[in-house]
Amino acid sequence: MEKKAIGGVVGRVSSVTHYSGLLEQETGESFSNRLKAQALSAGVTIHMEEVIQVDLDGLIKKVSTDQATYEAKAVIIAGGTTKRKLMLHSRLVALEGKDCVNKLKIQDEHTKEITTISSDGCGVFIYAGALPDSKLYHSLAQEDGYLVTNQKMETSIAGVYAAGDICVKQVRQAATAV
Ligand SMILES: Cc1cc2nc3c(=O)[nH]c(=O)nc-3n(C[C@H](O)[C@H](O)[C@H](O)COP(=O)(O)OP(=O)(O)OC[C@H]3O[C@@H](n4cnc5c(N)ncnc54)[C@H](O)[C@@H]3O)c2cc1C
Repeated sequence: MEKKAIGGVVGRVSSVTHYSGLLEQETGESFSNRLKAQALSAGVTIHMEEVIQVDLDGLIKKVSTDQATYEAKAVIIAGGTTKRKLMLHSRLVALEGKDCVNKLKIQDEHTKEITTISSDGCGVFIYAGALPDSKLYHSLAQEDGYLVTNQKMETSIAGVYAAGDICVKQVRQAATAV
């Protein structure tokens, strides 16, 4: 089940790194297309549907989407994360530099004071972290909203597995998500 686009977060990055078998300068789109083709060739059926409700407690698990309800003895949850919104009391008022950014100016919304940060050859990458999409899975053990799994990637309920960024783990990368 996928509610938006195959590939998730990594499908939208301009250049994928830190994964084996990547093409040179491979984009997230190209990487996702190759993963999708491999999944389809392995017989996986992809449904573009949003999971809206789950009942995971019994032997038969029920997964309801915006289009249908499915039943299975086992399910794998790979709902990933959603970008956290940046809640700042400051705003970026200037980016300076010739060939690359080497200075940025930030203004405090309350005091209007401007702080200048200088660093030759630096870049700007705004990322305020991410939150796990685990609201549907309240019956599973969680830590800070991330699903707890064992060595077999099984959650606290037998037959319910989780993979990828939605799990409690140290490194959130494609290599640890597949
Ligand atoms: C800016 C940026 C750059 C990165 N670059 C790299 C890189 O170069 N190399 C690398 O290895 N890693 C990179 N990562 C990390 C990588 O993107 C993640 O580790 C990886 O995408 C995790 O995959 P995932 O499937 O667990 O989760 P996600 O990518 O978050 O995918 C989850 C999917 O589940 C779907 N979904 C969620 N809820 C529902 C629902 N209720 N119903 C149906 N579908 C649902 C979402 O639409 C989404 O497609 C980067 C991350 C960021 C933020």
